[in-house]
Amino acid sequence: MDGGREKKFAVENIERNSEPIALLCDNIFYFAELGMQEFETSGLMMQILEKAGFTIERNPSGMPTGFVASYGSGKPVIALHTEFDATPGCSQAPGVAEPTPIVDGAPGHTEGHNVNGAVMIGAALAIKKTIDEFGVKGTLKVFGAPAEEQLVSRPYFVRDGYFKDVDVALHDHIGKELGTVYGLRQYALISAEFTFKGQSAHAATAPWNARDALDAAVLMDIGWDKLREHLEPTQRSHRVITNGGDQPNVIPNRSTIWWFFREATAEKTRALFEKAKRVAQGAAMMTETSYDVNVLSAVWPTRANRTLAEVIQRNIEEIGMPQWTEGEQKLVHEVQTKVKAKPTGMPTKVTPLKECVQSVSANDSGEVSWVVPTGLISFPSNIPGVSYHHWSAGVSLATSIAHKGAVAGAKAMAASAIDLLLDPQIVAKAKETFKQEIGDVEYRPLLPPDQKPPLDLNRDLMERYRPKMREHYLKERPEFR
Ligand SMILES: [Zn+2]
Repeated sequence: MDGGREKKFAVENIERNSEPIALLCDNIFYFAELGMQEFETSGLMMQILEKAGFTIERNPSGMPTGFVASYGSGKPVIALHTEFDATPGCSQAPGVAEPTPIVDGAPGHTEGHNVNGAVMIGAALAIKKTIDEFGVKGTLKVFGAPAEEQLVSRPYFVRDGYFKDVDVALHDHIGKELGTVYGLRQYALISAEFTFKGQSAHAATAPWNARDALDAAVLMDIGWDKLREHLEPTQRSHRVITNGGDQPNVIPNRSTIWWFFREATAEKTRALFEKAKRVAQGAAMMTETSYDVNVLSAVWPTRANRTLAEVIQRNIEEIGMPQWTEGEQKLVHEVQTKVKAKPTGMPTKVTPLKECVQSVSANDSGEVSWVVPTGLISFPSNIPGVSYHHWSAGVSLATSIAHKGAVAGAKAMAASAIDLLLDPQIVAKAKETFKQEIGDVEYRPLLPPDQKPPLDLNRDLMERYRPKMREHYLKERPEFR
């Protein structure tokens, strides 16, 4: 690898640790923990970082499955951050090209966040060793960000000042390619529960005495659907009723409908949310119930800084794509055929740098990207053409495909962080271009200032499945060298 002995050292360290990186990836895959319940996952990650000499700050913003691990001292302060949560009902055996749950109905990784975690840890440990070996100045901060699937942690981290002293941040996320982008990447999102409160009664003998909270939730849903025609087609909004009562003969006195509202900008998302509150008010009036709103999280769109993208791209081109075996390509083709995707196999070339087209998805890393210049590393551990949150997206995640992608991703992340640690001019330039990119947009958080994080999220679901899932945990834990 060109670009100095420091980067060469870090890349070689990652190569030497490709086995523990793979093992970490697989350990997290079998933990398959839902957002805010990632106790095994973050516990193992913290244990590895602590053993390597990082100082661990536990419970950032009060989240027991989050962490901030620091190493080094002084400026610049480089942050690595990523997520590691799974998706509900998505259990899938790795390496099998048809729907095959490991534990029926249980959560599973179908967005590759298990690999995200392994990449960040692999990179962090290599950067730390490089700091030691060459006496590199600067601080590395490694953020474990829980509950990405519910967009929870980073808006809280940003609000609570955890990124205040950070100069630049790097985020890694699984993809089908080794690449990076710059520009506006994803949507803003507000996640909010509307809880209606009424009065229960016997549904047969005295329904006229009741005020039906479930009716209110259903009317809110219908009201919003009527409104959809008159909303800009850019919006996305979807919901589930998480509490619709207990049994039909008791009219529910409580009902909760949980919404995601998405738009291209934070301000447009805020406006959608204001409309939703009026629809809820209407539903409450019609049913003579009352309601309250609980914002679980709210996030700005993800953006990526061009200066950092250029740094990452140079490293990606040096590192190059993993070499795929015939067996790996065969599995990829089988899955692609099964889901009727284009039978492209895994890509064999790195992706050229490009400006992104804004996607309607969201990631709570977006919040960070409005307060510090952020670079994104996308690494090839996922099968092209599969859809996340579907069994097919789980197939590659604990196989050699994911492992090779993870090693490439960790190398790109470590090499880019070392560039930033060694050259203060790049950091200064990233800050300058970041200012230009933000322009006159004023960052006003969507998250209410006094909002508490939803620590109970997914707890019941996880507790239901964990005993069965535990039988499949790997016995061996990664030992990094
Ligand atoms: Zn994701």
